[in-house]
Amino acid sequence: MPKTAQPAPPLPEPLRVPVADSHTHLDMQDSGVEEALAAAASVGVTTVVQVGCDLERSRWAAETAAAHASVHAAVALHPNEAPRVPDLDAALAGIEELAALPQVLAVGETGLDYFRTGEDGVAAQQRSFRAHVEIAKRLDKALVIHDRDAHEDVLRLLDEEGAPERTVFHCYSGDAAMAEVCAAKGYFMSFAGNVTFKNAQPLRDALAVAPPELVLVETDAPFLTPAPYRGRPNAPYLVPVTLRAMAETKGMSEDVLAEHIAKNTARAFGY
Ligand SMILES: [Zn+2]
Ligand SMILES: [Zn+2]
Repeated sequence: MPKTAQPAPPLPEPLRVPVADSHTHLDMQDSGVEEALAAAASVGVTTVVQVGCDLERSRWAAETAAAHASVHAAVALHPNEAPRVPDLDAALAGIEELAALPQVLAVGETGLDYFRTGEDGVAAQQRSFRAHVEIAKRLDKALVIHDRDAHEDVLRLLDEEGAPERTVFHCYSGDAAMAEVCAAKGYFMSFAGNVTFKNAQPLRDALAVAPPELVLVETDAPFLTPAPYRGRPNAPYLVPVTLRAMAETKGMSEDVLAEHIAKNTARAFGY
């Protein structure tokens, strides 16, 4: 568990319309699961999607979702994990087994991450990504995509494989032009705390053109704590901070955006 010297941000004002944190990593946060869920629920974040990044943590995600009605699971080998797995096929078989469980609503996060990956890693990532797309389609689960510095290849591989009916770009990081491509294809775009960062105008431009019917919110906690709390630990209870900034960008009332997001998340994950 990462320990942070900085104190946790205060509870924000509760949302009047409850929403889901569409992407979180409770297993990497300082507080216990119960405590994190209670804090989130107290500010109107009544559902979370717990995302596993390797086989073991995907199993944990499935177990946690089985134990808590407000938690849904997503299971996958993270793109940075794919090149490190000793036996990729065996690991993928394990993911498929977990993905078939009823409390597992999505396959992800999968995709491509070219930020720190050499050519060998890219081949393994692409193979893993294609396999995850197939698993999602076979089992009729949502697909959760991690796309870092790999927009073109992610979109191309989705076209080549045929995207699942419900596809979510987690921590959406494309520009406005890409948001229009995603919108045309019906891909959901999930925005994280980085949409609040000062230097993130291109991301806000993307959010501005994203149709309200395809927008989700997430924390990706413990990462990407929204402003003004950058550098402090993130957790699902901070969703309202990001959602309020998003409402401002979209020129919508907080309640109307929250209503959209609540419906969109349920539609994306099928709950
Ligand atoms: Zn990610
Ligand atoms: Zn993540």
